[in-house]
Amino acid sequence: MKAEIIAIGSELTCGAQLDTNSQWLSCELEARGWTVQRHTTVADDRAAMVRIYQEAAQRSRVVLITGGLGPTLDDITRDTLAEAFGQQLVEDEDSLRHIAALFTSRDRQMPERNRVQALRPEFASVLHNAHGTAPGILLERSTPLCTIGVMPGVPAEMRRMFHERLVHKLPASDVFVRRSVIRTFGFGESDAERLLGDLTARGRNPEVGITASNAVISLSITARAGSAAECEMLAAAVRDQIREKLGDAVFGEGEIELHHAVAAQLLQHNLKVALLEGPTTGGLIGQWLTETEEFASRLVHSQLFPTLSSMLPHHADPSAANGAWEPALREHGKKLLTERTADFVLLSSPSTLTVDENGVRKQQGSVIVLGANLDQSQDVSMTGNLAVFRGRAARMALNQLRLHLLKAR
Ligand code: AMP
Ligand code: MG
Repeated sequence: MKAEIIAIGSELTCGAQLDTNSQWLSCELEARGWTVQRHTTVADDRAAMVRIYQEAAQRSRVVLITGGLGPTLDDITRDTLAEAFGQQLVEDEDSLRHIAALFTSRDRQMPERNRVQALRPEFASVLHNAHGTAPGILLERSTPLCTIGVMPGVPAEMRRMFHERLVHKLPASDVFVRRSVIRTFGFGESDAERLLGDLTARGRNPEVGITASNAVISLSITARAGSAAECEMLAAAVRDQIREKLGDAVFGEGEIELHHAVAAQLLQHNLKVALLEGPTTGGLIGQWLTETEEFASRLVHSQLFPTLSSMLPHHADPSAANGAWEPALREHGKKLLTERTADFVLLSSPSTLTVDENGVRKQQGSVIVLGANLDQSQDVSMTGNLAVFRGRAARMALNQLRLHLLKAR
């Protein structure tokens, strides 16, 4: 069944405040089997608000609205709701008593302005707000059938009102929805789409969505069916197909990060790692692998060198020729392998930024993974959004180790 969300407030449309309510409500609705088909954000503008409510009520079975329930002149959600559906505003006695009591409990006189918060459209009911002065509103429309729930803009009040007062009054959805996520590393979004073929076509059930973040490609699988078990069956079949098509690129499901997957492998096989990081990963691998004591138990050494000369004081000018750092770094890594009895050493290089004649910026660097029978170097240079350079480089190093461990076992 279809739902939509309307966020009200000029502070949202002008960019001063991010609309987090719509995102939160969408997650809540989707988890209950609703399909949220639209988010609308609108300024405190009477005509626009009236039109938007009317349109929403025509196309969605549930419409949730947040914001504009305060006592000030720009809070016109009550008025516009009454206007949109041809109702009078009436004062709700219980609400007024509650608002007055809130002020009394704070040893304050209720300002006359707050009285407007007790108003509601005549055929609507009130959603009690135990945590603030703005009651919510519940309005049922019959042609077409539509349930409209209005909640305060303050996120904490909105969330509690949704759970405590509104959610059980919404019609139950006739479908179950289950969303699962497969996490992959090692190729781009368009490669993923090509490999997955028509699995990602729109209109399929389950629907497969592809998103990229920090060089990790996530595939979200949304299954809709008459029961939770049926959803799970549909999703499991698609997950199997994806795993088959993408193979070792898949490193886990849910919210897993690449370093979690690698730490799990190291723990499983009781393996230890040393880190020698230059500016290409800038200590990021060390940061990740010390996130928990358990991960950190896999580290025998972690060192960050800001410049190559700081690591190898006796070497000649480290920035000399391109790649001149590599033998020196490798030599140092091999020493760690034996001296620290590490099973693997992850290394990252110094990094340089170049700009070509067309103004294209390129960040250069590489990562190396060393082990008893392993010496793999990978160029991680890139152009484009350089903000992801380090995270991507660190993941590329970890991914090399992950793939090696997969093959070795
Ligand atoms: P209002 O109910 O319009 O008086 O909003 C009260 C406060 O809640 C605003 O000043 C915002 O800081 C916050 N707020 C309103 N709408 C949202 C929203 N959609 N997402 C996050 N915060 C919001
Ligand atoms: Mg407002």
